[in-house]
Amino acid sequence: MRLQLSTNELTQIINGKIIQLNESLIDVVVYDSRKIGTNRNAAFFALKGLHKHGHSFCQDAYDKGVRCFIVEIPIQLPEDAYVILVDDSLYALQELALHHRNKFSIPVLAITGSFGKTTVKEWLYFLLKDNYKIGRTPKSFNSQLGVALSLLELSDEHELAIIEADISEPNEMDRLEEMISPTLGLFTGLGNHYAENFSDQKSHLNEHLKLFKHCNFTFILESYASPFRRNKINTITTSPQKWNNIPSIQDSFPENRALCFEVAAFFGIEETELIEKSAKLISLSGRQEVFEGQNGNLIINDTYNIDIDALEQALEYQFSSKEKSKKIVVLDLTHVNEKRKEEIIELVNRYQPDGFFLVENNTLPKELFEVTNAIILFKGSFRSSLSELVQQLKNRKHETWVEFDLRAIQQNLRYFQELIPANTKALVMVKASSYGSGDMKIPHFLQENGVDYLGVAYTDEGVTLRENGIHLPILVMNTELNAYEDIIRFQLEPAIYSIGHLEAFIDFIQQKELTKFPIHLKLETGMNRLGISKDNVAKIIEMLRKTEAVHLKSVFSHLADADNNDQQYSLQQINQFVSVKTEFEQQFTNDKRPLFHILNSEGIINFSKIAAFDMVRIGIGLFGFASNTQGLMESIKWFTTVSQVKNISAGDFIGYGCSFQAQKDMKIATIRIGYADGFRRSLSNGVGKVFIHNNPCVIIGKVCMDMTMVDVTDLDIQEGDEVEIIGKNQTMSDFARLLDTIPYEVMTSINKRVARIYVKR
Ligand SMILES: *Cc1c(COP(=O)(O)O)cnc(C)c1O
Repeated sequence: MRLQLSTNELTQIINGKIIQLNESLIDVVVYDSRKIGTNRNAAFFALKGLHKHGHSFCQDAYDKGVRCFIVEIPIQLPEDAYVILVDDSLYALQELALHHRNKFSIPVLAITGSFGKTTVKEWLYFLLKDNYKIGRTPKSFNSQLGVALSLLELSDEHELAIIEADISEPNEMDRLEEMISPTLGLFTGLGNHYAENFSDQKSHLNEHLKLFKHCNFTFILESYASPFRRNKINTITTSPQKWNNIPSIQDSFPENRALCFEVAAFFGIEETELIEKSAKLISLSGRQEVFEGQNGNLIINDTYNIDIDALEQALEYQFSSKEKSKKIVVLDLTHVNEKRKEEIIELVNRYQPDGFFLVENNTLPKELFEVTNAIILFKGSFRSSLSELVQQLKNRKHETWVEFDLRAIQQNLRYFQELIPANTKALVMVKASSYGSGDMKIPHFLQENGVDYLGVAYTDEGVTLRENGIHLPILVMNTELNAYEDIIRFQLEPAIYSIGHLEAFIDFIQQKELTKFPIHLKLETGMNRLGISKDNVAKIIEMLRKTEAVHLKSVFSHLADADNNDQQYSLQQINQFVSVKTEFEQQFTNDKRPLFHILNSEGIINFSKIAAFDMVRIGIGLFGFASNTQGLMESIKWFTTVSQVKNISAGDFIGYGCSFQAQKDMKIATIRIGYADGFRRSLSNGVGKVFIHNNPCVIIGKVCMDMTMVDVTDLDIQEGDEVEIIGKNQTMSDFARLLDTIPYEVMTSINKRVARIYVKR
């Protein structure tokens, strides 16, 4: 980009007031004095809010050779500087971008949506770059500032521009739309969650739609057709199925691919070329996680890869964040070669962080635990253990947390994989947020550890997995008519459990003009919950043989009594399953033969020799729980902390309803857990206990909503001390027994407000 403007012209474009005059030529724009290179003809925009206020860096910029300054308050600079005063320097920069953009009459494609923008932009660039000279948003420069900078990159040689736009607040899009003036639009979609600054999904969507109001056409997925129609926006709709004939690599999101192919076709790219290029599309999606850490820190956990571009992008993000002024960088360079290491360190030093640490031997440097009120970036490759280490810095909210030991979980997974034949697949059930272990950590962990399939109970659980980067096949146990749209859109695979259900689904698929959509059949063999009864099997087979709409991927059933020492009922179920299996195998042969599966965790332990078939479904066993736990490791611990210790006298009452009266002088501790956390009220008054410093402490009085009192007479206990609810002194099974229930219910009843922490010990 060379702007070739005189300072006088610049002043007019941004409607500024000259307060110091010394004409020169402007070719480039800078706003960060640390990144000023040798370019002489630069205009420095002193922006507020970035790192510190830009005004404090004017002198630095001057020392580096810059002579033109755009400021919001009059500042003193040497005589040979040209200083322009404006009300708002970001707005001024945007005015310049708008002016620059209007010099070009090329197609400008603007992309927005709540996810996938950068991926789509990079893929599009890749698909079109051999046919068009493209100006595009660098990295993810999609904010109010980023869009302006992106537009300023446009030059005469470009034949097409691709610009990303992102919003986080109401009314931000108007300015972006004005600057970009897109001729074409692309909408990637909205997640189920709306950004916190919007009152609801609809207003979030409507804000996005503003970008497209003047576009000739906007590329969208079919599922968004109605809001666009309502807003009178011309669309070109597409769907993953439309592009089914183009082979994909596993890691790519089908919706994003479809949108990219649709645009590429619009720009005249032939199918043969798309096929060739599709094989090379790589996953460019970021996997950054930002969360609140301890000591008021904000943590950016970006531990997926550590190539230079990705690092620079993460640093940009960190250093432009307004949330904390102190910036700390933590890298794990264990898997990086020496030469790259040097480049990386040099890059980080250029940003002059307030602290810079390298992680060695899988341990976080001690100093890191002393850091307060900083934004801390963690970056390493997915092979490093940084991602797990970071969890140690997580804010434990109200100091109650559940800890998941990933090493134990990994070992349990191996244990099951070794029990089954080598060619039998492993599906892991991750319903109910992976049995209460949190939304995404375990699914990603399983994906990285070579699991073949995931299973969920309901469609929205599958959608969450897809939106968060899970590309494994996903089996959905319960699907309803109103969820079919999402089933298709997110490539989920429904379990069909009745003739009516199969009819409805085939109908739906035919209406969508799709074929071979993967489905699974759930058979009734004795559980009597959901399932196709034996009498209906012949009819089902006939229906399936007649249709091209669906493809039968598996046939399964579920054991009702797998943990009973008396194996008779399970064997009866297995026998019945085998006879139906034979029926299917006679009708569906070769590549039409479906997978067969019936074993859950207990089933694998007891029947893997006779009934593993083509796949098994691991559930609670992953966490180490079963009737026979030999070979399994318990992976869950639950802790809270003491909030107050006090002495009480004989005769005093404790808690609601005065249900406990001290018979002697006592010392009690109030702990930060109550029935709202899943620590049930039935544990009140001596039924339950917890452990402090490995000593049993009995619950006295009634368990309250957020707090509980325990007896610590004769113990040396301080406020803040750790309290074990589940751990080495009280196992999950012990605890479940006190509640007269099973580990499944304990795990899934631990409230969302309790922090989940994942460790690898
Ligand atoms: C939950 C579930 C499983 C896993 O059961 P576990 O007892 O946790 O191993 C397997 N199959 C189906 C159909 C399920 O719903």
